[in-house]
Amino acid sequence: MNKVKIPLDESDIPRQWYNLAADLPTPMLPPLGPDGKPIGPEMLAPVFPMNLIEQEVSTERWIDIPEEILNILYRWRPAPLRRAVYLEKYLDTPARIYFKDESTSPPGSHKPNTAVAQAWYNKQFGIKKITTETGAGQWGSALAFACQLLDLECKVYMVRISFDQKPFRKIMMQVWGANCVASPSPETNAGRKILAELPDTPGSLGMAISEAIEEAVTDTTGKTRYALGSVLNHVMLHQTIMGLEAKKQLKSANEKSPDIVIGCAGGGSNFAGLSFPFVADKINGADIKIIPVEPTACPTMTRAPFAYDFGDTACTTPLLAMHTLGHSFVPPPIHAGGLRYHGMAPLVCQAIVEGLMEPRAYNQIDSYGAALLWARTEGFIPAPETSQALAAVVDEAKKAKEEGKEKVILFSYSGHGLMDLAGYDAFMSGRLTDYELPEEDLKKYIEDIKNYPKAEIRKSGKW
Ligand SMILES: *Cc1c(COP(=O)(O)O)cnc(C)c1O
Repeated sequence: MNKVKIPLDESDIPRQWYNLAADLPTPMLPPLGPDGKPIGPEMLAPVFPMNLIEQEVSTERWIDIPEEILNILYRWRPAPLRRAVYLEKYLDTPARIYFKDESTSPPGSHKPNTAVAQAWYNKQFGIKKITTETGAGQWGSALAFACQLLDLECKVYMVRISFDQKPFRKIMMQVWGANCVASPSPETNAGRKILAELPDTPGSLGMAISEAIEEAVTDTTGKTRYALGSVLNHVMLHQTIMGLEAKKQLKSANEKSPDIVIGCAGGGSNFAGLSFPFVADKINGADIKIIPVEPTACPTMTRAPFAYDFGDTACTTPLLAMHTLGHSFVPPPIHAGGLRYHGMAPLVCQAIVEGLMEPRAYNQIDSYGAALLWARTEGFIPAPETSQALAAVVDEAKKAKEEGKEKVILFSYSGHGLMDLAGYDAFMSGRLTDYELPEEDLKKYIEDIKNYPKAEIRKSGKW
């Protein structure tokens, strides 16, 4: 029998995060303010604590992980690397498939890797309360968990329709002591204004972000800040612990390097966390295929232009250079709720522009098909987001068989699906439909951003 579980001793946990900004062959485009000029760190100060802003703009290659953060992460880290030998056998593939199991964290996904770090830096800075938004509730539950352990207040604005229809994540937040309210809420100016105009609105992430930011910046004591679960550079940074651990684990399994690295991408942090340490190897000459996967319903990387756009529907964030479907993009209600964001992390996008990555899109029926195959061979039930990565893994494993090549495939098992079983029910009873964003809709959403500053395509031409 092949080795199935590849643990890493606690004493071997990475002690520094890796910052891809240090190694990108061409520098990233700066975030811009409403006047079209690059913003300074002080403009972000009412929203984020300065120690996280420093990480956001840092180009240091390695950043120390504070011991106190590691002491919290030890609850589940180092996370196991596992080999999917049962799926390999079923597919009769010569590929060796490894997965980094992020479903083992208490909230059940990779998100607490950054939630814990962000809560800790806020606390260091003297902050008492963190506000955020959440859609289906994965990020809200991760931040609630982190704030509970660090004795911080946590306020989560949860999109109304999920608040009503998906009570389990809301209950998890309450178990971890957070105050979770439905958005739009009567608690903020933004919320009251929306409720007056649209009393029956199902809410949206954009509305919830506006409320969470408003609460942070209007606290006159100055002790409240806002936290974002993906997209920003410091979030990518905190997630690299995944890839750094995986590198050590692959070595202990006697693998020199993966041939293929795969992760699903919503805002990009899960994919970035696993892949960036391997992107560094690729920049230094390694031959690795690196594949971020997204839904065909929200084709940010595969079909959207690289452009300056706002990070939120309410246009409150700086303009970021990224692949974007336009901030007014309304995603269809697919089950992979964590992959419905209109933009993508600027760090991931600059690497795509460089040609270091090969993005790919799958529809939800193929993804659920792969998820079911996984659950019926490996046993674990994946999150709907994770199932997108699985569709790519199965394709690459089949391709390795056709080519008769012993490829090493590494992917991120970003979360379990035990809170998302309704999607499986819809799939098994044939109620799930596929959705491909029509070209006219894409054009319509992009129209909104066509007068923004142009994002220059900077690339070295090496890949
Ligand atoms: C949120 C989420 C994702 C997407 O995360 P990003 O880091 O924003 O790309 C993927 N998988 C799971 C299980 C999630 O909860």
